[in-house]
Amino acid sequence: MGRQPLWRRVDFIPQTTYFKPAGVPLAQLEETCLSVEEVEAMRLKELEGLEQEKCAQRMNISRTTFARVLGSARQKMADALLNGKAIRIEGGNFEMALRRFRCLNNHEWDVPFETMITAPPQSCPACNTPSIMPLWPPGLGWGRGGRGRRRRGRHRW
Ligand SMILES: [Zn+2]
Repeated sequence: MGRQPLWRRVDFIPQTTYFKPAGVPLAQLEETCLSVEEVEAMRLKELEGLEQEKCAQRMNISRTTFARVLGSARQKMADALLNGKAIRIEGGNFEMALRRFRCLNNHEWDVPFETMITAPPQSCPACNTPSIMPLWPPGLGWGRGGRGRRRRGRHRW
């Protein structure tokens, strides 16, 4: 295919995807939006304490790209904390480390990241129906503008 691999691998999606400062009226509230891969970059670096090189490998991106994603995440966090903005976690160019699929006959199976970005499944391995869909992780607030990457047509399903 020769297409530039732009999917970042993400192992973990937070359960809480919206944070709001206490005591700020909704009308005055500004929002900053972190992508799922920005949160993943912070998780690997700050919580798992990995070296940047290792973080980059885990996310299937170059070290330069990782540094940029992490820098952007930190900048947004600082902006939210110091300027009293709400934080929304949403969207991004990511694919899960493991994606669960279900067909219309309720068969479920897991598809690893490497398969998802090279040859995503076209049919159910058990019954061969092409009527399959990926299951989104629970807690991910796709809300407004959710699943944007599908609408932008970057992916085949
Ligand atoms: Zn099936």
